Amino acid sequence: MEIDDAELKSACEHLGADFEILRGKKCPYCKGETKYVDSSLVYGRSYGMMYLCEPCDAYVGVHHKTSKESLGSVAKGELRNWRKQAHAAFDPIAYERRKNWNRREAYSWLRKKMGIPKALCHIGMFSVNRCKKVIEICKKTPWNE
Ligand SMILES: [Zn+2]
Repeated sequence: MEIDDAELKSACEHLGADFEILRGKKCPYCKGETKYVDSSLVYGRSYGMMYLCEPCDAYVGVHHKTSKESLGSVAKGELRNWRKQAHAAFDPIAYERRKNWNRREAYSWLRKKMGIPKALCHIGMFSVNRCKKVIEICKKTPWNE
């Protein structure tokens, strides 16, 4: 789902979260400014643009290859791996359209289960613990409950 900047800003103000970090512009590890670079810098071939903190080896992709809209905050290897696993658990629920759910409904279900506001319910913003929770929640899909 696309991130709504206005909603996110307001949620950050309420919760004391750092908008620049959640947007991938600032590194949560060293608090330095990230760089908007081509992903070939990391992968050797290009999959589009990304935000990167080189000293921390932390990065995050963008919504569309050339967009400036990050998928969330930059992450180091372990967290990137957990986010991948959370997506692997959740994406079938969001995209397989069982129960005739669309993505909006799938995300709405997820955020109620997670108990977090809409603006912050993006796997690209999640910590390792939140990713683990996503995986746990998705094991109990509504059609299996
Ligand atoms: Zn850093």
